[in-house]
Amino acid sequence: MALYLNEEFYSIQGEGVQTGVPMYFVRTQGCAVGCYFCDSKPTWKLPSDPSLIHPETAIVARAKRSGAKWLCLTGGEPLEQDVTDLLIEARRNDIKVHLETSGAYYSEALIYCHWITLSPKDLFSKKKADARVVQRAHEVKCVVTKETDIDYYLETYQSKERPLILNAVDNKLDLLSTIIEKTRGLPNVRVMHQCHKIMNLR
Ligand code: SF4
Repeated sequence: MALYLNEEFYSIQGEGVQTGVPMYFVRTQGCAVGCYFCDSKPTWKLPSDPSLIHPETAIVARAKRSGAKWLCLTGGEPLEQDVTDLLIEARRNDIKVHLETSGAYYSEALIYCHWITLSPKDLFSKKKADARVVQRAHEVKCVVTKETDIDYYLETYQSKERPLILNAVDNKLDLLSTIIEKTRGLPNVRVMHQCHKIMNLR
């Protein structure tokens, strides 16, 4: 097997609980979720260009050479492709996998991930998060575009089991203030920016 990729690069994780951890980012090609605010629109189409197909062994070898202990599998929507072989190959090489997914698709291969960030797009797409992905997620990270989004996320995803992270779309400061006020004192809710954008990193 092999995977369609959009890009690979070394950087630090800029979002969620793992912010600051050095990772080798593997951005897959293909996403049919269609969020209007998407900052990765070039990933949407699955191309016919064979130069974008990469064998899993080569991807993991590059991740290993980068020095990162984590491989962040992101997209696009990584679970639109069969990522099982990549996850197994990463395990074989002692590289932990951090998966970022919209939850629109379920895969048995989720058991091979060390950290799953669910970023549900329920409010912006017909493709809702699959309950099995919700159950396996280590954190739920939601994009807030307006005040009523916050109510939905709190009702649907606030949990004792894992943090709910709220990001204002495009790091908008007025929305950030609203989120902070609406979540005042709530347990297991964190309000964060996308740090990589502030630090001018990819
Ligand atoms: S799920 Fe992610 S990659 Fe896909 S459209 Fe939404 S923001 Fe973009």
